[in-house]
Amino acid sequence: MEIFIEGNSLDFQLAKEIQKRFPVQIIPSYEEFKWETKSLPELITIGKKRLFLINYKGNFFKPCPGTTHYLCCNYKIFHFGEGCPLDCSYCILQIYLNRPGLKIWANLIERGLPELAKILNFYKKKRQILRIGTGEFADSLALENIINVSQILINFWKEVDPLAILELKTKTSISKSYFSQLKPDPRIIFAWSVNTEKIINEEEKGTAKLSSRLKSAQMAANYGFSVAFHFDPIIFYEYAEEEYPKVLEKILETIPLDKIAWISFGTFRYPKELKDIAEKRFPSTKIYSQEFIEGLDKKRRYFIDVRKRLYYSFQKLLNQAKNIVTFYFCMEGKRMWEEIFNKKITSSLEVANLLDKVALKLCTEK
Ligand code: SF4
Repeated sequence: MEIFIEGNSLDFQLAKEIQKRFPVQIIPSYEEFKWETKSLPELITIGKKRLFLINYKGNFFKPCPGTTHYLCCNYKIFHFGEGCPLDCSYCILQIYLNRPGLKIWANLIERGLPELAKILNFYKKKRQILRIGTGEFADSLALENIINVSQILINFWKEVDPLAILELKTKTSISKSYFSQLKPDPRIIFAWSVNTEKIINEEEKGTAKLSSRLKSAQMAANYGFSVAFHFDPIIFYEYAEEEYPKVLEKILETIPLDKIAWISFGTFRYPKELKDIAEKRFPSTKIYSQEFIEGLDKKRRYFIDVRKRLYYSFQKLLNQAKNIVTFYFCMEGKRMWEEIFNKKITSSLEVANLLDKVALKLCTEK
């Protein structure tokens, strides 16, 4: 990994720590960085090995970019950077981020944490629970060995003692030595996006094997943290209906159920511009050659019958665990909630309330 630091960011704490441990190159600014004359798909690939520490001017705290057309969960984001060194063929960041490279906000400790503390204190005073994640524009832990941002946030949670959970979403494996340096806290949720071995092998380049993700989740639970799993994206293929439930079965068999905060489900969906760029970068992928409809949010998604078939394949297991584990959909309508989960959920507020209830329980456990 090549590391570049903007000249005006050298004195920020994060940049100082990195300079102590890694060789770095100083650049005038990310905007002026001279990229090779190559196509955008090629630059995206090159950019996955270049990390930029940037003096960030925007807001660190944001609402999740959900959608107004489907039920979403009213999640909040602590925005620590953009881009991911892993390389999934379905990754939306390939079109969301219009410039290549992995960008981390160098002023995160000096400006991001005070901004976050203010918000956490405001909500705590109102006795209102917050669910915050860091993995919407990046994998929460893929760069952890260089930047330690998740560790900084976990320690910050102990310090500020907020009425809030922090969800760290990843597709990496985490070592025992990482967990052993942290103090247990059920408000910290280590969350794994999971998929079948076939999809992991074919579509999630650079990510950890399913068995390593589950082993890490077991460790997180043993070290006193909460865990969560996201079946997202569920991708349709010939044996999908047999293989996806086996993944859920394995989770339910190997992870203590009382440590699982929630498990979500969402089938593959994408903005139409993604297909072209992803097929150029991943010529052997077949995931875009299914039949799709355009959803209300203008994203392509499987027909309702296909989505239902995929979700129904989990149903036996969902029924077995539904009184212990909270299951939810990411971006589905009320009809799916009723048919698959047998729950009357008619608004995003109700989805949020369902998850807030779990979050509140975790906050009172700590
Ligand atoms: S792990 Fe997540 S952020 Fe990283 S490439 Fe895959 S989908 Fe994108």
